[in-house]
Amino acid sequence: MTSNVIAIDGPAGSGKSTVSRHVASTLGWIMLDTGAMYRAITWAVLQAGVDPAESKRVGDIARESIIELDTQPVASSVYVNGIDVTSEIRSAEITSAVSAVSAAAEVRDLLVELQRETVRKSGHGIVVEGRDIGTVVLPDAQLKVFLTADPRTRAGRRSAELGQNSSEEELKRMQLKIEERDFKDSSREVSPLRAATDAIIIDTTDMKLDQVVQEICHLARKRYSLT
Ligand code: C5P
Repeated sequence: MTSNVIAIDGPAGSGKSTVSRHVASTLGWIMLDTGAMYRAITWAVLQAGVDPAESKRVGDIARESIIELDTQPVASSVYVNGIDVTSEIRSAEITSAVSAVSAAAEVRDLLVELQRETVRKSGHGIVVEGRDIGTVVLPDAQLKVFLTADPRTRAGRRSAELGQNSSEEELKRMQLKIEERDFKDSSREVSPLRAATDAIIIDTTDMKLDQVVQEICHLARKRYSLT
């Protein structure tokens, strides 16, 4: 198992995925987007016509689904039972249902195991991003980062990510949805979203993407004595 691990956690729209992708490609490492795994199970749940709140049935679907993820930072495709769901898992429908699915203990047990296995098999180094990486999935990681940004900034970033030129009203609506998802993710019983006590907290509200990436790469080079 590689000892070169960066655990990156944070709330919705904090820039985790983009930052993780850039950090991994700068360091020549692979990356694991664990949110994409929860989204993939959510896709399977909705596809089966199951209510995301029915945790028992949600667990059954998770057990029956084969989730495959590309860990190359440039193009990370996601497959469920061989079907490419890469773009579909970013839909608004999946985004509103994913917090309920990810609160199911069985789903978490299965995915956490899959995440640890990916880390065990990773060679040179891996960036793993999500909500509970530093606290539950990899509590022994030597470098943990928790990214935050104020909800308004996060709404603006989400809108830009979706390629939208959103009006003030749309941004407000997006911000409310983000805050609602933060609340659900932080108040759930199993593995709630929170920073590990030994995580380095970076508030990215006034930072450019490049600055955040550079800071994390700098921390990694120092921590793992990379050249
Ligand atoms: O990061 P992303 O927005 O794609 O995550 C989607 C959802 O997956 C989150 O809102 C959360 O409910 C769930 N998630 C989680 N634990 C993780 C990663 C994501 O519960 N490690």
